[in-house]
Amino acid sequence: MEAQEALKEKENSSPLGGGREGASFREKLGVLDKQGHREWMYPKAVNGWYYKARTVFGVALLALLFSGPFLRINGQPVLLLNVLERKFVIFGVAFFPQDFYLFALGMLSFLVFIILFTVVFGRVFCGWACPQTVFMEMVFRRIEYWIEGDANQQRKLNAAPWTAEKITKKTAKHVIFFAVSFLIANTFLAYLIGTEQLQKLITDGPAQHLGNFVALVIFTGAFYTVFAFVREIVCIVICPYGRLQSVLLDNSSIVVAYDYVRGEPRGKIKKNEVQAHGDCVDCKLCVHACPTGIDIRNGTQLECINCTACIDACDEVMLKINRPKGLIRYASMQGIRDKMPFRFTPRIIGYSVVLVLLLTLVTVLFAVRKEVEVTVLRTPGMLYQEKDPRTVTNLYNAEFVNKTFHDLPLELRVKGRAGQVRMVGNNNKAVVDVPKQEVAKAMFFVDMPKNQIHTPNTKLTIQAFADGKLISEEETSFLGPVQ
Ligand code: SF4
Ligand code: SF4
Repeated sequence: MEAQEALKEKENSSPLGGGREGASFREKLGVLDKQGHREWMYPKAVNGWYYKARTVFGVALLALLFSGPFLRINGQPVLLLNVLERKFVIFGVAFFPQDFYLFALGMLSFLVFIILFTVVFGRVFCGWACPQTVFMEMVFRRIEYWIEGDANQQRKLNAAPWTAEKITKKTAKHVIFFAVSFLIANTFLAYLIGTEQLQKLITDGPAQHLGNFVALVIFTGAFYTVFAFVREIVCIVICPYGRLQSVLLDNSSIVVAYDYVRGEPRGKIKKNEVQAHGDCVDCKLCVHACPTGIDIRNGTQLECINCTACIDACDEVMLKINRPKGLIRYASMQGIRDKMPFRFTPRIIGYSVVLVLLLTLVTVLFAVRKEVEVTVLRTPGMLYQEKDPRTVTNLYNAEFVNKTFHDLPLELRVKGRAGQVRMVGNNNKAVVDVPKQEVAKAMFFVDMPKNQIHTPNTKLTIQAFADGKLISEEETSFLGPVQ
């Protein structure tokens, strides 16, 4: 009973607790001053376990991202998203606008996966894998630390007059920022147009490929602006995923959290004093290390990108004062309050079921997806023609989508009847050449002996063969006089 009352008191005295007496922090963003103007963030560099782990993970992601356009599966790019030419290659498999249903279902599954992942693990994606955070913290911030020094040195440099040293440092930083942005823009463009087109842009010069060059300039400018100036505003204001946090997280979600049960009441350690307060010594190092300018001791906030910098900062302090690490750690609010391990809530189970169903559907649809699609329609407005006294003919329109990476000669045949296919404009042969990755259209006649026609509208099946192998069967109809 006493323990419960003590906990209640801690909750009320903590901004995390039911009373939320210190909730004024929710009335303004951590990156704004009292007048509502943006405050430039100077996060203190950390070097703890999480930062090292994120560095290893970030380097692996960057290596994957930059090598991605050059990686090939069966000679095809791992990822190509050529929106303008409507060519999409994912893991070496070509997708066409005709496969849009797969794309839509895939995106839906991805969305449910993101929701499920966020419900369970909070914003862990933002801190570890989001390109914005990886580039900002692992590339651009490091360049800044390297040239301008740690937080305090940066503050001093920005407040100082424009001396030769300041001009040199600022120029060097922005030149490198621009060069890295240019590199990222080239990679991004390679994912959109492919490495071959990018190579042509480099070798032929911008004048020959003006559209691609303009795109490269715009991408470079956008990346430079984001990483040199906009920075954490992307996560706090612009990114829609960040905006979703308030509806996705609940008390059992695992987030970067301050253990107020252990930490409160906070207070400085005084010499020879028996510990009269919690483990938090109110050094504010966790606040100084935060790239979005928040105090995680106030509880989960929309600005928190789960970057773990405050964990590293606090662990360093705990080590120095001989207290256990993990005052700030990955934990759920429920886990901290009730000291309960993670458990699956009905919401998590519900999302998981939907996700499994969607993934099963996508897998099945992908498995039955055709590499060559054939559509056959009887030419509208046309009846039959009598070719000779014994033969009737119908005209058809056909469309062929060749999603493979090789040219296909497709031979058309009439299934189960004595009919003959004659392509219009191909010496009356029954073969149509469909180039790789292209859509081809053709017209053809079907000649049918009159003795095969028993109804005015006969069901007809057109088969398409490639290298003697049946790849498609299309139902259509044949009009003719009944004998
Ligand atoms: S509160 Fe901690 S985890 Fe969240 S953004 Fe700030 S430093 Fe990163
Ligand atoms: S770093 Fe740890 S000890 Fe220092 S203020 Fe933050 S929570 Fe308290």
